[in-house]
Amino acid sequence: MEDKKAKKPEDLFGKVNRLPATGGHVVSKEKLLEPCDDEDAVATVFCIGCGEYTKVSDIGSKNLASKSEIELPVSLEGNYFRAERCIMCDDDYKKVSLSKIE
Ligand SMILES: [Zn+2]
Repeated sequence: MEDKKAKKPEDLFGKVNRLPATGGHVVSKEKLLEPCDDEDAVATVFCIGCGEYTKVSDIGSKNLASKSEIELPVSLEGNYFRAERCIMCDDDYKKVSLSKIE
């Protein structure tokens, strides 16, 4: 039987390949609340398309919000962005909304 998790050479060396945007990924609260080494990160973007979590800085979150016409709260604590597509599986974040971590 084929192991679907086996690493193919392109997985190891080819960073040009995008993640497949299969959709339907479910957010994990634990992942959202995982501590982050990046001091600039103020929020997490979860992508429903490919299931990836990416951190955004203050400037990044403002850019996301203005592009998606989201009104940002004073603090993003307790919130995360949901996107249908992200930079890991598409050209840019798409269909972004702000959700509560719950
Ligand atoms: Zn994605």
